[in-house]
Amino acid sequence: MENKILVVDDEDYHRELMHKLLSKLGYDVEAVESAEDAFSLLETNRYPVIITDLIMLEMDGVEFCRKIRETDDKTFVIALTGHTDLYDIDKLKEAGFDNHLTKPFKIEVIKQAIQDGFDEFRKRAERQGGSL
Ligand SMILES: [Mg+2]
Repeated sequence: MENKILVVDDEDYHRELMHKLLSKLGYDVEAVESAEDAFSLLETNRYPVIITDLIMLEMDGVEFCRKIRETDDKTFVIALTGHTDLYDIDKLKEAGFDNHLTKPFKIEVIKQAIQDGFDEFRKRAERQGGSL
C-alpha cells in the first residue's frame, strides 16, 4: 500500500498525463474519471495519497473530499485546480484538503507535494497507532 496513489480527473488528457507521470516517478497509480469510481476502489483499497481534480460532473472534488473525511482522516488529499480557480483556499481547507496545486504544474512541485503527502500519512498513522 505504501506506494499507492489514486488520481481522480474527468479529463482524459489530464488523467492519462498524471498516470504516466506518477508511474514514471515510481508510484503505483490508479486513475479514474469520477468520484463515484474512486469510491468503488476505496471500498477495497487504501491509498496514502489521493489527488483529485475539483471541477467534475456529478460529484465535484470538494464534495468528494468531504465524503472521504467522514470516515478517513489519515489519507493525504491534494486538490488539483485549473487556471481559473473557482474555489477559495478556505473552502478547500474546510472540506478537508491537505494541499492544493494549480494546473499546469511543474513536475518538481507535484513530486514534492506527493513526498510530503506520504510523509504526513505515515506520521498520522503512527500517531494513531495500530493499523493503517
Ligand atoms: Mg475537470
